[in-house]
Amino acid sequence: MTEPSIFTRILNGDIPGEIVASTGKFFALRDIAPQAPVHLLAIPKTEEYRNVVELAAGDPELLAELIAFAKQLAEDHADGDFRLVFNTGANAGQTVAHVHGHILLAA
Ligand code: 5GP
Repeated sequence: MTEPSIFTRILNGDIPGEIVASTGKFFALRDIAPQAPVHLLAIPKTEEYRNVVELAAGDPELLAELIAFAKQLAEDHADGDFRLVFNTGANAGQTVAHVHGHILLAA
């Protein structure tokens, strides 16, 4: 058994974190080290996919739903416009191997 990711541990309440939204399949967390006035992470509850390439190959419908979830967050937290960033691989800065999109909003 592999250890649960840091995001799953936050979702389960094992460590603190600000969960700003939760649906059947996804949750959103406020990033602990924000890179924009509003910086959220949109995360599938499943840990099956380590990065967005695996998610796109394994469950493209879930990826499309993740993007719709991001859009909803952008509407709830700002004017609906947003940047969505998926760091993919350690050399690109990915530190958590549980697929997540960074949602970066002006405010
Ligand atoms: P990555 O570098 O994998 O693309 O993104 C991981 C993100 O998770 C980083 O932006 C980092 O600040 C955030 N992060 C890491 N640990 C925690 C934590 O314990 N709580 C929260 N809210 N965010 C975290």
